[in-house]
Amino acid sequence: MLDIASVARLLEQPRKIVITTHHKPDGDAMGSSLGLYNYLIQQGHHAKVITPSDYADFLNWMPGNEEVLIYTENTQLADTFIAEAEMIFCLDFNALSRINAMEASVRASSAAKLMIDHHLEPEDFDDFRYWDINACATAQLVYMFIADALNNKALINKDVATCLYTGILTDSASFKLPKTTAEVHIIAAELINAGAVNWRINELVYNSSSENRLRFLGNCLVNKLEVLNEYNTAIVSVTKAELEQYEVETGDTEGIVNYALSISNVRLAAFIVERTDEVKLSLRSKGEFPANEICKKYFAGGGHRNAAGGRSDEPLQAVIEKFKSILPDYKKLLIQ
Ligand code: 5GP
Ligand code: MN
Repeated sequence: MLDIASVARLLEQPRKIVITTHHKPDGDAMGSSLGLYNYLIQQGHHAKVITPSDYADFLNWMPGNEEVLIYTENTQLADTFIAEAEMIFCLDFNALSRINAMEASVRASSAAKLMIDHHLEPEDFDDFRYWDINACATAQLVYMFIADALNNKALINKDVATCLYTGILTDSASFKLPKTTAEVHIIAAELINAGAVNWRINELVYNSSSENRLRFLGNCLVNKLEVLNEYNTAIVSVTKAELEQYEVETGDTEGIVNYALSISNVRLAAFIVERTDEVKLSLRSKGEFPANEICKKYFAGGGHRNAAGGRSDEPLQAVIEKFKSILPDYKKLLIQ
């Protein structure tokens, strides 16, 4: 394991650096990655953000976005960067299986692997770890890594601040989730002072729906919402045909599960979607209910207690039935 002093020493000279994050990157994955990228390029490092997959349009405006390499669309070039890298920053994930097709190349690389993350149960693949499950976002940790650990707050410029603010905003559900501490608000204020235009970022992230997305959301809420009051659980399920009918794009399904959770008695909400090659589940819960336990035990996934995900190779209906069949085991926790 490297300590922070060794990392700081490594970064004294220009390095070849890859920054990567989890498959289907969300706002925190992109915000923390591009925040770190905009910091590193100021010091003359040759940094490259490589994402395992594409990501939502509402995230494609951040400074540095045009330099991002999508692994599945540019595999050969990305593999060259990974093979030549001296350092690989792994942001917003802590198990290499989360980078899907990139896993083999990153595993094979001799670069120092530096994890900055806030998920539970990190796997042992890293050479340096800046990890705290109490952080509301990886972007918060990147801020602390730069400002506190590396003592380089002066290099948090408008570009860095814009990206990190976006990460904190999205992962804290607009400063609403329990990990939004006073310190998070202080960091957000620092980022605004450094040039992040908070109202504009909000607009770019949250007021950028396509008409299709809104109609798709309407369909989900009117026709696809199933509330199981006996278990204080709500399910929204979506077929591949519906994704096609509404021309749903990457990111359009994000956040729909939260509408199901917003029903006052609902403690567990599931969004279950039939993708091309698998069925994907997004679970959200309130309070102590361990959504990640269900994902880990039954759906080859994981995540946080209140926000977790998983997958299955079974047909959509079978996955829905399997999910329902688990609920009696959790009835006590659900009806508290
Ligand atoms: P989402 O529902 O937005 O896809 O994911 C919610 C949370 O669960 C995120 O923090 C994400 O990192 C985690 N998560 C989603 N899918 C998986 C998965 O397949 N495996 C693991 N370990 N975590 C996941
Ligand atoms: Mn995150």
